[in-house]
Amino acid sequence: MTKQVKVGNVAIGGGARVSIQSMTNTLTSDYGATLAQTKALAAAGAELVRVSVPDKESVVSLGKLVKNSPVPIIADIHYDYRLALASIEAGAHKIRVNPANLGAQGVKEVAKLAAERKIPVRVGINAGSLEGARSARALAELALDAARVFEDAGLTELVLAVKCSDVRRTVEAYRELHKISDYPLHIGLTEAGTAAKGAIRSAVAAGALLLDGIGDTLRVSLAGDPVKEVAVARDILRSVGLRAGADVIACPTCARTQIPVEELAETVESVLRDVDFDIKVAVMGCAVNGIGESRGADLGVCGGKDKSLLFMRGKPYKTVDNSEIAEELKKMIEVYRG
Ligand code: SF4
Repeated sequence: MTKQVKVGNVAIGGGARVSIQSMTNTLTSDYGATLAQTKALAAAGAELVRVSVPDKESVVSLGKLVKNSPVPIIADIHYDYRLALASIEAGAHKIRVNPANLGAQGVKEVAKLAAERKIPVRVGINAGSLEGARSARALAELALDAARVFEDAGLTELVLAVKCSDVRRTVEAYRELHKISDYPLHIGLTEAGTAAKGAIRSAVAAGALLLDGIGDTLRVSLAGDPVKEVAVARDILRSVGLRAGADVIACPTCARTQIPVEELAETVESVLRDVDFDIKVAVMGCAVNGIGESRGADLGVCGGKDKSLLFMRGKPYKTVDNSEIAEELKKMIEVYRG
């Protein structure tokens, strides 16, 4: 098991549940916009929010944000270690740095202050910022070397990351890092891409790691609105059985299909988006194969020409007009929840 660090009231590693984090894309110096986006991310399910701190104005904003945010705030610093020191002073719950661009003296000072204040630091190795090709093992060792610099300066509250934009390399590097380190790991694919493609690439990389028990906090990086990242992260964690929630399965449709499967499945997904209990709902296009093919579902619908069969726990529950399926399914979810 990995060590555990506390970021505000959120534990990372040491058996804590894998936390979801995201990052604002507003100007951090614009306090109002950044607080609004932080609240939107938290409402979507982010448990930690990271903000860039590229200048002194952002530090001022950060100071207000940590007091008013519903979730702990991580300050992301590049190049200027004084901004990392100022962010710790301003109350950041965690700092993220790339030691390669802080300078030796900067690393020492940041580590010393973070250790004094018990503020964890995420040490990130980003393969894209390194020169030359490196093996997965070499990337993992670089991350550990970076951690040692902080350890030598007295800080052991560390979270490690070794991010690449390539799925296979990311998985291999984290596997290597998991073998040689017991620090908690921040996982994710960097620069994953646009919403649809990036979600798939992130799910493959994070899914492979999480199924092996690797990863303590997850960020899905997508171009665009970060709220979408949180939804994808939640779905990844649900898919690998690490979060309670709804699974909506739908048949692929064929010549036997009697109801608008895709539309209905989307309606059911939106009804179930925020449930905090496990439930599997099937939307099947016909009664011929529907019940058999969706045997594992808790409840669902098998479409008929004018009327459809609703079932619960594998048994017929009710037959309803097709125009009433969505409403009846919503009622069944309430009955199922009990
Ligand atoms: S459940 Fe029925 S409609 Fe859906 S793919 Fe199977 S046979 Fe076709």
